[in-house]
Amino acid sequence: MNKALRKAVIAGNWKMNKTPAETTALINEMKPLVADAGCDVVLCTPFVDLQAALEATAGSNIGVGAENCHFEKSGAFTGEVAAPMLTEMGVQYVIIGHSERRQYFGETDETVNKRTLAALENGLTAIVCVGETLTQREQGVTAELVAMQTKIALLNVTAEQLKKVIIAYEPVWAIGTGRTATAEQAGEVCALIRATVASLYGKEAADGLTIQYGGSMNAGNAEELLAQPDVDGGLIGGASLKAPDFAAIVKAASK
Ligand code: PEP
Repeated sequence: MNKALRKAVIAGNWKMNKTPAETTALINEMKPLVADAGCDVVLCTPFVDLQAALEATAGSNIGVGAENCHFEKSGAFTGEVAAPMLTEMGVQYVIIGHSERRQYFGETDETVNKRTLAALENGLTAIVCVGETLTQREQGVTAELVAMQTKIALLNVTAEQLKKVIIAYEPVWAIGTGRTATAEQAGEVCALIRATVASLYGKEAADGLTIQYGGSMNAGNAEELLAQPDVDGGLIGGASLKAPDFAAIVKAASK
C-alpha cells in the first residue's frame, strides 16, 4: 500500500461540546498552531456552531464539518438537518455513522448508507465511521463486522463518489475511554477495510482512499498509530477540544 497516493486527514469531532462563542475562541487558538500543517485539517462541530466555525476558519487551512446529516432533502423530520442545508452554508465534510449515533440514536448500517449517499450527492466529503464493540472483538468477529459495515455503507456509492469518502475505523471500546487500539490492531483493521474497498472498486481506488483511525488518539500515541501503512489520519474526539493537543496530532500527521 502506498501512502504517497493519499493525503493524511486529521479531523476533530467536537461531539456535543462548545457554544458558538467558544467555537470562535478555540478555532482562533488553533489556527496559528496548525497553519503549516502538511495534512488536511478538519473540525466537525455541533450544527449550531457551524456558522461560527466557518467564519473563524475563513482564509485558513482548516475545513469545517458537521457531525451528522439526514438522508432526505427536506420534510417532516423534526430536529434533523439535511445535507443541502450544510452545503449551502459552505460546510465541506460530515461525519456519518459515528458509534454514538449508532448506540444512542438508532443509526443502522442501512441509515448510514442512506446518509452517506445524501452527503455525497450534495458534494460533501463523508467521513464514514465503522468499528466493533469490545464484545464483538472478543467474539472474534471484528473482520467480518467491519467488512460488512464498510460494504453496506458504500452500497450504490459510485467510484467517482468514493473519491469523497473517508472511512474512519473507530473501535467502539477505544472511543472516549483512554484505551487505544495498539498500532498493530489499528493497522490490521485499516488494511482490512482497504482490502474490502479493493474488492468492490479495484486496487487503484482503494489505494487512493483515506482511512483514519479514531479512538483515544492523542499527542502521545498519534505518531505510532499514523506510522501504520494503512492509517492515513485520525478522527479525534477529546483531544480535539484542546488546541495544543490537536496541533500535536496534526504535527505528527505532517511528518
Ligand atoms: C470520536 O469521537 O470519534 C473519538 C475518537 O473520540 P476520542 O478521541 O475521545 O476517543
